[in-house]
Amino acid sequence: MTATVIDGKAFAAKVRGQVADHVARLKEAHGITPGLAVVLVGEDPASQVYVRSKGKMTVEVGMKSVEHKLDADTSEEDLLAVVKSLNEDPEIHGILVQLPLPGHLNEDLVINSIDPAKDVDGFHISNVGLLGTGQKSMVPCTPLGCLMMLRDHHGSLSGLNAVVIGRSNIVGKPMAQLLLGDSCTVTIAHSRTKDIQDVVRGADVVVAAVGRPEMVTGEWIKPGATVIDVGINRIDAPEKGEGKTRLVGDCHYDSCADVAGAITPVPGGVGPMTIACLLANTVTACCRANGLAEPEGLTA
Ligand code: NDP
Repeated sequence: MTATVIDGKAFAAKVRGQVADHVARLKEAHGITPGLAVVLVGEDPASQVYVRSKGKMTVEVGMKSVEHKLDADTSEEDLLAVVKSLNEDPEIHGILVQLPLPGHLNEDLVINSIDPAKDVDGFHISNVGLLGTGQKSMVPCTPLGCLMMLRDHHGSLSGLNAVVIGRSNIVGKPMAQLLLGDSCTVTIAHSRTKDIQDVVRGADVVVAAVGRPEMVTGEWIKPGATVIDVGINRIDAPEKGEGKTRLVGDCHYDSCADVAGAITPVPGGVGPMTIACLLANTVTACCRANGLAEPEGLTA
């Protein structure tokens, strides 16, 4: 292996430390405590785990954490009423509705009912439009975390060829917008892209957000390129014992690490950055709501 490992776990701890410092200053100088509300509908086990760790880390950085747990059969009307009450609550600066929602609820409608200034996931259509036109917005957490790691590693990204594999609204598209904002030449690859390996081989920066275990191998990677692996896939791991599983990314780690200049591992790469950026977005939203200076280095 030749690649430098980009340690997302350590980087996320550093970001959380910066958030905690800013929260302490907000309390001391202005008597303001940033507040994050998470709304969970239903009992999806993975969502419950995410919500628990978001709540724990919110408290750890000194912010107020509020959780609304609603039954799986909650009506759209009731869910919209909860969001409305959070929109109107001056102690809440960030609102996150945990996705996916149960099938009877219209996700777009619910997300677009969040006050865009409190939309710390950056999924509201207003924030999507602001990001797309290069204006100040709330930026989706996972792509923001990827951008922070890339800036930290490269300094300037200007002029680099970047290929984003995946065009989802939550990762691929905002990632491409952010890289464009940092003056990369950006290509978005997806399931219909022809000769995808050749496309990826032209990249100085590869961001893989596909959801296909170990799809990208070392042969796809230009020597020295930076590989950011967003994928989180659970696969069988018979070598660990019967019925055991392990997490892998969208990139085949060992073969990519042999060719790349730098790479994020899975787990311990992009994953921890996502929650750190959620906390960063909440403190940013709190500062904006109060007309105060935003923390440096925690926004796009
Ligand atoms: P989606 O399923 O919404 O999007 C996947 C994208 O990959 C689509 O654009 C799809 O193309 C493309 N794709 C699928 N198969 C191929 C292929 N064979 N070749 C090229 N492109 C392909 O996934 P998400 O964006 O939500 O998530 C992507 C991955 O990132 C998942 O593993 C997810 O678990 C992980 N993730 C990790 C997070 C973290 O915190 N680290 C946060 C969010 C996601 P098309 O549009 O043509 O179908």
